[in-house]
Amino acid sequence: MSRFVASACLAVLLMVGASPGAAQTAGPASPEIGGFPDSPLIPPPTQATYPGVIRYEVDATDLDRRVVSVRQTIPVTGRSLTLLYPKYLPGNHAVSGPIQLLAGLTFSAAGQRVEWRRDAVDPYAFHIDLPAGVSEIEASFQWLTQSDNANWRVVMTPSMMNLQFEKALLYPAGYVSTGITFAPSVRLPEGWQYGVAMETTSFEGGVATFAPVSLYTLVDSPMFAGAHYRRIDIDPTGADVHLNIVADEAANLAPTAEQLGYYEAMVTQADRLFGSRHFDRYEFLLGLTNQMGGIGLEHHRSSENTHAPDFFTSWGRSAGARALLPHEYAHSWNGKFMRPADELTANYNVPTENSLMWVYEGQTEYWGDVLSARSGLHTKAQALALMADRAAFYQNQAGRQWRNLQDVNNHNLLGYRVPGQWTSWMRGTGDYYDEAALIWLDVDTLIRERTGDRRSLDDFARTFFSPEGTDGSWTPRGYTFADVVAALNAVTPHDWAGFLRTRLDVAGPDAQAPLEGLERGGYRLTYVEEPNADEKAVHANWGSDFRWSLGFNLSGPTQRIGAIQWGGPAYEAGIGAGWDLIGVGDRVATPEVLREAVTAAKTGEAPIRLILRNGQRIRTLDLSYTGGLRYPRLERIEGTRDRLGDIMTARRR
Ligand SMILES: [Zn+2]
Repeated sequence: MSRFVASACLAVLLMVGASPGAAQTAGPASPEIGGFPDSPLIPPPTQATYPGVIRYEVDATDLDRRVVSVRQTIPVTGRSLTLLYPKYLPGNHAVSGPIQLLAGLTFSAAGQRVEWRRDAVDPYAFHIDLPAGVSEIEASFQWLTQSDNANWRVVMTPSMMNLQFEKALLYPAGYVSTGITFAPSVRLPEGWQYGVAMETTSFEGGVATFAPVSLYTLVDSPMFAGAHYRRIDIDPTGADVHLNIVADEAANLAPTAEQLGYYEAMVTQADRLFGSRHFDRYEFLLGLTNQMGGIGLEHHRSSENTHAPDFFTSWGRSAGARALLPHEYAHSWNGKFMRPADELTANYNVPTENSLMWVYEGQTEYWGDVLSARSGLHTKAQALALMADRAAFYQNQAGRQWRNLQDVNNHNLLGYRVPGQWTSWMRGTGDYYDEAALIWLDVDTLIRERTGDRRSLDDFARTFFSPEGTDGSWTPRGYTFADVVAALNAVTPHDWAGFLRTRLDVAGPDAQAPLEGLERGGYRLTYVEEPNADEKAVHANWGSDFRWSLGFNLSGPTQRIGAIQWGGPAYEAGIGAGWDLIGVGDRVATPEVLREAVTAAKTGEAPIRLILRNGQRIRTLDLSYTGGLRYPRLERIEGTRDRLGDIMTARRR
C-alpha cells in the first residue's frame, strides 16, 4: 500500500522535472533519482482462514552452540507465496523481531530447492515463486540465539531455555493471526521438562507435540524448559494457575509453604479485584537464573518471568523484585484481554500504535503493586517505601520541562527500552509505567474522596476488564481513550477527560509531577538521612544512591557515575555520566566514604572534594553542597484518612 503512494509521488516529481521552468531551479534532473525495486507487493491481512495446517518442528537441543533449528511444512496453492517474520512483537510495542538472527533459510518443494527473495523495502518479508503443481513447501532455518546479553537477551543456557516462538517462525502474509493454524512440536535436550500454556498431546523421546493452535495462540504461548523444573499449583479455587519454575541449580527450586501462600493469596486477590478470569489455565513461567537474560513479558494465559537464583532462598533480599509476577498476571486482564484498540493489530507485521500505554502499562503497574500489597508479597511498609522511591524520581525529574508523558507513549516505536544515562532529562519507557501509576493513584484516591470512600478504582477494574458475559473468554477487545473516560464516569461522574489530559499533555517550566494522590491518600513525601529497614529491603542499592542529595548514583567496582539529575548539584559542577569517582577528599572513593563526606559537609565548613576520572583525564571538583544525605519516605499526615492503607488492604470478598 505505501509503495503505491511512493510511486504516485515519483510520477509527480517526473512531471515537475519535465517543465522547463522547474528544470533550471530544482537541482539535479529527476531521472537521476532512480527507480523503485521490482518487488511484489506484500498482501495485507484479511479475515480469511489460511487453508491447511502448517507443521512446525523446533529442534532446541543444540545447547553448546545455542542454535535453534526450525522446519516448517506449509500447505500452498497457486504460484506465489509471501512469508513474514514477526516484526512488531506483542508486549514489546515496537519493531523488535530479531530478523538479524535468522539464518540458513532454505526452501524446497517436492524434493527440489526453491529460491526466495527478500522484499526490497521490508526486510521482514520473503517472496517465493512456487513451482507448478506443488501442494506444500518446506522451509528450514536457524535462530542463532546469543551467548551474551549485549544486543539480544540470552535465551539458551546449559540448564534452561526460553523458547519464544515468534522469534523462530515464518507465516503467510495476507491473513489475520487467528486465521493461520500451526501444529507445533519441540525437541528438547535429554531429561529436560517444560512449562507452556499449550495442550501437550505427547512427550516421548524428548519431543513434545502439541495440539494444533492458531498463530495467535502459538505466539502467546512461550515455553520455559530446563534440566531443573518444578510445577506447583497456586490456585486456591482449583488447579488452573501454576508456577512453572526452572532454575540454574536444583537447590533453588525451593519456595517455602509461606512464600507459596503469598502467591495463592495473589491469585485470590486478583479474582476479587477483577471478578473474572480471561483464561482457561494460567502458567507462570519463572526462571531463577543469572545465566539467562532477564524478562517480564505478559500473555493471555501465561507470562515469562525471571528472578535471581536465590529469589526464594534469600527471601529477605528479594523484596524489591516481588511485584513482577503480580504485574504480569494483571496484564492478562489489562493489555491482553482488554487492549488499546491501536495495539490490536491483525498480525505481527502491521504497525502498532501506542497512544494508551499509560493505561496498558501504567494501570498494570498500579495493580501489580496493589496486588503485591494485598497478597502479603509486600508488607504495607515495603509498599510505601516503593511508592516513595517512585514519587521522588518524578518530583525531581527535569524532563517534563520539555516533554509530556503522552509523547513518551508516542515515541516508543523508535526503540523499546533504549538505555539512557540521562533519564531525568530525556524521559523514556519507564514513565508510562511509573508516572502513569502515580496518575492512577491520583484517580483512585479522587474516586474515594468524591464518593465518601464507597467506591474506588476497584469498581473501574471490575466493570472495564470484566464486561458482562466475558468470564473465561480471552478473545481480545479493543478500547479507546473515550472508553476509559466513560468507564470512569460510570464509577463516579467527573471531568475525567480533562483530568487525564492535563496530566498526560502538560510540559513546560511549571509542569509538576502527578503527586496529588499521595496527599489525598494520607501521606506526604519527605526526605530522611537514613533509610529504615523496609526502605533498604526494597531498594537494595540505597547505599550508592545519591540522586536526591548530590544528584547521581554510583555503580560497579570503579564507582561509575550515572543517573545524573539534570540541574542537580553534580550536574551544575560539570560532572558527566560515565565518569568514575576515584577519591573523596584524601580517601579512596567508596559509597560509604562518600556518604560520610556528605554528612560531614552539612556544617558547610569545607566543600566536598571529589577526585574524578573522565576517560584519560583526572579532575578535582569541590561541591559546596550542604544538604546532607536524602532518601525519600512517605510520612503519614495525622488526622487524615489512610487511603493508601485502604488500597493496600486485602479484600475479604
Ligand atoms: Zn507490563
